[in-house]
Amino acid sequence: MQLIWFRNDLRSFDHAGLTHALATQEPVVAVFIATQVQWQRHDMAEVKRDLIFTRVADLSKQLAKLNIPLLIEAVDTYTDSVGLITKLCQKYGVKQVHMCVDYELNEQKRDEYCTRSLNPLGIKVASYHDSVIFPPGHVAKNDGALYKVFTPYKKQWLKQFKQAIPGCYPKPKAQTASFSQAELNTQLEQSQHEPQKIEDKLNQLKIPFSYPGVSSVKSWQAEFVGSEEAILNALRRFCKEVVEDYQRNRDFPLLDSTSKLSAYFAIGSLSPRQAINRLLAEQGDSLFEPDSGAGVWLSELIWREFYRHHVADDPRISQGFAVKKEYQTLRWRNNKADFAAWCEGRTGFPIVDAAMRQLNQTGWMHNRLRMITASFLVKDLQIDWRWGEQYFMRTLIDGDYAANNGGWQWSASTGHDAAPYFRIFNPTTQGERFDKKGGFIRRFCPELGEVPDKNIHQPQAYLKVFNANSSYPDAIVDHKSAREITLKMYKAE
Ligand SMILES: Cc1cc2nc3c(=O)[nH]c(=O)nc-3n(C[C@H](O)[C@H](O)[C@H](O)COP(=O)(O)OP(=O)(O)OC[C@H]3O[C@@H](n4cnc5c(N)ncnc54)[C@H](O)[C@@H]3O)c2cc1C
Repeated sequence: MQLIWFRNDLRSFDHAGLTHALATQEPVVAVFIATQVQWQRHDMAEVKRDLIFTRVADLSKQLAKLNIPLLIEAVDTYTDSVGLITKLCQKYGVKQVHMCVDYELNEQKRDEYCTRSLNPLGIKVASYHDSVIFPPGHVAKNDGALYKVFTPYKKQWLKQFKQAIPGCYPKPKAQTASFSQAELNTQLEQSQHEPQKIEDKLNQLKIPFSYPGVSSVKSWQAEFVGSEEAILNALRRFCKEVVEDYQRNRDFPLLDSTSKLSAYFAIGSLSPRQAINRLLAEQGDSLFEPDSGAGVWLSELIWREFYRHHVADDPRISQGFAVKKEYQTLRWRNNKADFAAWCEGRTGFPIVDAAMRQLNQTGWMHNRLRMITASFLVKDLQIDWRWGEQYFMRTLIDGDYAANNGGWQWSASTGHDAAPYFRIFNPTTQGERFDKKGGFIRRFCPELGEVPDKNIHQPQAYLKVFNANSSYPDAIVDHKSAREITLKMYKAE
C-alpha cells in the first residue's frame, strides 16, 4: 500500500505525490493530521486553521472521486504526528509514504525524524519539491552559492525556466484498488457518501487558540467559495481579466487588482506550476516582458520562491535571527503601549490604522499596506520587527513563514536584498500616493467618514474644529523626529 501524507499541499490536482503514488498501481490511501498545539507554537492564525479544515473537507470529496480514502487524524505536535504515521504504516502494511517537502526548520526536522523512523521498518519515504518551481539550491551561482540579491536570482530563475517550462501533472485517474480492511472501508464510505460527517468531524477537532484573531473565513471572502474548482476559476479569471493591469494597479488597495490567492498558495491548495501555466495560457509570452502585468505578477511568484530557498538554506532564519548579523542586536525601543496602538489600528496615521483594521477584520492585508505598516512599526516606533512578524502570523489567513519573514526582514532592512536602512516610508505621503482620496481609509475607519479628501491623511486639525468629540486618536509619534532616532539606531550598529 502507498500512503500520501497531506500537509501544506492541500489539493488533488497537479500533485506530485498523488501522481507518483497512483503510478505504482498499488492501493493508495491518504492521511491528514492536524497538529494544533504545534501550529500555535508556530503562531498560525486561527482563521488559517479554519481555512485548512475547510480545504481538507473538500479534499476528502475530491479524493473520494479518485477512490482514495482520506484518513483525518489529530495529535498535538509534529513528533506525535510521526509516531502516528509510523503506527498507520505498520497497521496497513504501507510500503512507501509520499510527502511534499516543507522548508522551515521544525518541518525539516519532523521529516528527517519520519524518515529515520520508517526506513528501518523497510518503509520508503518519497519527498517532492512541489511548492516551488525549482528545488532550493537549484537556482544558484556558478560556485553553488545562493543569490542574495533578487535581480540576478530572478534572471537565472527565468533562464532556467525558459529552458524547460515545467508542465502540470495530468489529471489523476481513479484507482481501481479495493480495500480489504474493514476500517478503511468505513473511512471510504464516509468520504464518498457522507461529506457532512467529515465536516462535523473537523469541526469537533477544532480547539480555541490561545491568542485572538479573525473569527471566520467568511470575513476574508464574504461569499466564501474555497472549493478546488472555485480556486482554479479565481486563478483563471485573474489571469484572463485582471493581470494585464497588475503592473499599473497593484499598489492601490482600493482597487481589486491583485489575485488574493496567497492563502491558497500558503497551504498548497494552488501550486506555482498551475499558476504559471495558467498565466502562460492566458497571456502568452507577455509573461516574459518584465514590465507587463503578467511579467510583474510572475516576479512576485519568484520573490515567493526566493524567500523559500533562503529559509531552506539557512536554519537561522527559522530561529528568528536577522539575516544581516550586524542588525541582530539593534537597540529597539519596544514600547508596549505603542505596539498595542499599532495592533489595534489607533496610531493616528489613517493609512496605517485602516490597514491594521483590514488585517484584524478580514485576516488579509494588501501588500502595499503590509510594507507601510511594517515600516511604521520598525522605523517610526522602533519596535522589533519580530513582534510585528508574530502579530501578522497570528492574524493572517495567508500566514506563510518564508514570505512573512522575508517581508518583515525586507522592511526592517535586515534581510537579503532588503530596503536600505535609510529608506523610511513617510506614512502620510504613502497614504496620499496610494489612497489619494481616502476611499480605503474611510472603508476601515468609519469615524473619518465625514473628513474631506484634502484632510483625510492628517485629519486631526479638521476634527478638532468640526468634530471635537471624534474618537480618532492624535498621531502617536512625530514622523520627522522618529526618522532621526531610527537613523541613529541603525548607524550605531
Ligand atoms: C511585512 C510583510 C509580510 C508579508 N507576509 C506574507 C505572508 O505571511 N504570506 C504571504 O503569502 N505573503 C506575505 N507577504 C507578501 C505579500 O504581501 C502577499 O503575498 C500579497 O499581499 C498577497 O496578496 P495576493 O495574493 O493578492 O498577491 P499577488 O499580488 O496576486 O501576488 C501573487 C502571489 O505571489 C506571492 N507574493 C506576492 N508578493 C510577495 C512577496 N513580496 N513575497 C513573497 N511572496 C509574494 C503570493 O503567494 C501571492 O499570492 C508579506 C509582505 C510583507 C511586506
